[in-house]
Amino acid sequence: RAIVRELDRIKEQNPAMVSGVVPLQEIDPTLFESRFLRKIRELGEGHYGKVELCMYDPHGDQTGQLVAVKSLKSESEGPENSNLRKEINTMRELYHQNIVKYKGICNEEGGMTIKLIMEYLPAGSLKEYLPKNKAQTSQHRLLHYAVQICQGMDYLGSQNYIHRDLAARNVLVENETLVKIGDFGLTKSIEDNADYYTVKEEQDSPVYWYAPECLIHRKFYKASDVWSFGVTLYELMTYCDRKSSPPEMFQNMIGRSHGQMTMARLVKALEDGWRLSCPPSCPDMVYIQMRRCWAHAPEDRVDFKGLIEVFERLLS
Ligand code: ADP
Ligand code: MG
Repeated sequence: RAIVRELDRIKEQNPAMVSGVVPLQEIDPTLFESRFLRKIRELGEGHYGKVELCMYDPHGDQTGQLVAVKSLKSESEGPENSNLRKEINTMRELYHQNIVKYKGICNEEGGMTIKLIMEYLPAGSLKEYLPKNKAQTSQHRLLHYAVQICQGMDYLGSQNYIHRDLAARNVLVENETLVKIGDFGLTKSIEDNADYYTVKEEQDSPVYWYAPECLIHRKFYKASDVWSFGVTLYELMTYCDRKSSPPEMFQNMIGRSHGQMTMARLVKALEDGWRLSCPPSCPDMVYIQMRRCWAHAPEDRVDFKGLIEVFERLLS
């Protein structure tokens, strides 16, 4: 009798025991069950992965949440899969208002494949957002985005990470006043610098965002991220206009169809001092900051703290 009473008491305190189902969510809120994850639409596709908008609704009563889910295009255990695992481990450690929030993971096929669950930013990346919202986005606003990107990057550096893929396509828009850095697929901890990312020449290839030392020696420093920020600032000031994108501008300069020689040409041009030119109607003081990011030697470049100071002065 005492045992039965005890059992009733326990059941009262744990209603989930009665129904026999304990949703995984109640055990670990960062574990998402794939059967409750419903795809709504594709958000984007990159080198090795794809990102989808999904509804996660474990109770099946429309009380669920929208999430962005990153997974691999081909579902096989390989180097890409370990890239995604690294990206997950990086994102999990980052907490900053200008960095996309990690929400959890979804394991499939008994842990063979993994998905990254993050917060969904409805306005997409700056590359999609800016051309569409040019009319209601002032230059003042653009500089606010620039400060926010610098703040996120300064935090990333303080945690000893190098992003290695900073570009407008990887900065996401929460709303018209807030942007966040995303896509940590190439991010490295400064300690594990032994291996490097092999660069390919495609339209969206990060090579056009890379500093000379990345192209020549495949070495990445915090200052290499500063160079890429300069290119991102250039994109901001052009409202991500396709016709003046960094790859377009470079190819206009050297001419098209150099195939295998494109990289060598790019390196040569940068070494000879070629730089993206000042975008139309971009204030001199802002272009000066781009040039400070594009000093040939990493040690001669401004750092993110220095940039924040200048932008805050320009904005005050
Ligand atoms: P990849 O490594 O394949 O480049 P990204 O993480 O950059 O993947 O995502 C690709 C695209 O998907 C982004 O440029 C953006 O348009 C969209 N995207 C990614 N994450 C989110 C998110 N959390 N919310 C909304 N859109 C996103
Ligand atoms: Mg990307």
